[in-house]
Amino acid sequence: MKKKFFNAKIYRNEAATEMIVENGKITHIGTNLPKCDEEIDLNGKLVLPPYVDPHLHLDYVYTLSELGQEGAGSGTLFEAIELWPQFKKTLTVESVKRLAMKGIQDEVSQGVQHIRTHIDVTDPNFTALKAMLEMKEDLKDKVDIQIVAFPQEGMYMYKGGLELVEEALKMGADVVGGIPHYEPAREFGEKSVHDIVKLALKYDKMIDVHCDETDDPHSRFVELLNGLVYMEDYGSRTTASHTCSFGSADDSYAFRMLDIFQKTKMNFIACPTENAYLQGRQDTYPKRRGLTRVKEFIEYGINVAFAQDSINDPWYPMGNGNMMNILDNGIHLAQIMSSEDVKTNFDLITYNGAQCLNIQGSYGLDVGKAANFIVLNESTVYEAIRKRVDVLASVRNGEFLFRKKEEAFDVALSL
Ligand SMILES: [Zn+2]
Repeated sequence: MKKKFFNAKIYRNEAATEMIVENGKITHIGTNLPKCDEEIDLNGKLVLPPYVDPHLHLDYVYTLSELGQEGAGSGTLFEAIELWPQFKKTLTVESVKRLAMKGIQDEVSQGVQHIRTHIDVTDPNFTALKAMLEMKEDLKDKVDIQIVAFPQEGMYMYKGGLELVEEALKMGADVVGGIPHYEPAREFGEKSVHDIVKLALKYDKMIDVHCDETDDPHSRFVELLNGLVYMEDYGSRTTASHTCSFGSADDSYAFRMLDIFQKTKMNFIACPTENAYLQGRQDTYPKRRGLTRVKEFIEYGINVAFAQDSINDPWYPMGNGNMMNILDNGIHLAQIMSSEDVKTNFDLITYNGAQCLNIQGSYGLDVGKAANFIVLNESTVYEAIRKRVDVLASVRNGEFLFRKKEEAFDVALSL
């Protein structure tokens, strides 16, 4: 059956207002397209490809509430890392699935259809990884999930950490993770970066490293990661997440690195709400923003995306899976609101995330691709961002995952 979605404003395609979908795929995009069996009026609203959340910890979501807390502790990254192992001991496949499902619902009900999740594999039972591998398969018609084998407790903080990451890749994780700034000495951090790249090449996996998530301007593992993947021509399959320290780095160093990042084509992910909350904790005043150099990445044509990172976990209590909120915070912290910036701001939670996930070939609103898109409650990009509008509908393979009405008042304001 052919289906036509009409009266739409299509992001990055101003000339088109209609799409025809057949067998779940977009067959036409344009105007005045032929009549179809079913015609769906999108009421002049903005249509985007689905939101992408390229960095989320689905084995941590809602664990803060499970711990009986309604707020965080002192709020430092390292305190949260220390708290986690106590909770980890209590996990079962069922408990991980139950909480992860709440996080997935939060995201998918607000327009996300692609999630990259870091799963802690520093657990010899791989409880969370087993749960997530099953969920990835079970939910694939609703949401695409990529799994990062993430050594939360480090590769070299104890014996056998590296082997756990390798085993997780054999079990089916899609991406090699790491956390070099958490390793006990710089040399171990560097060793872990070498091992991450070796594992990725050995198992033909992507790379996504928690890299320099600290205000210490001397934490420069991103430099080594970038150098190694440059040598292997592996930049486009590699992502450096966080790189907060790069926001504190000396300018002469930073601009030298920006030139090299540009050549390597490595991807970057910033988590604006999470790192605005976690970083700058040892600063008195002025306090740093915790954000990497997002504005400069954009100016240099280096791919950078925004991500949620945490929902209700010991690292960050307030996440709710709303990517508009992430975008809103990110464009404030990165100071990207010029009329030129606004035109492409949505890329930070759509196309740029898709590029980090290496799905850009199948992602986007083009003929021949899956009919996956969301409908926002505004008709222009600027108004949608300024009003932080909701997602009214999410369509996957041509079918509504959900569709809701615009809000209606019992008593309307009259001025
Ligand atoms: Zn993270």
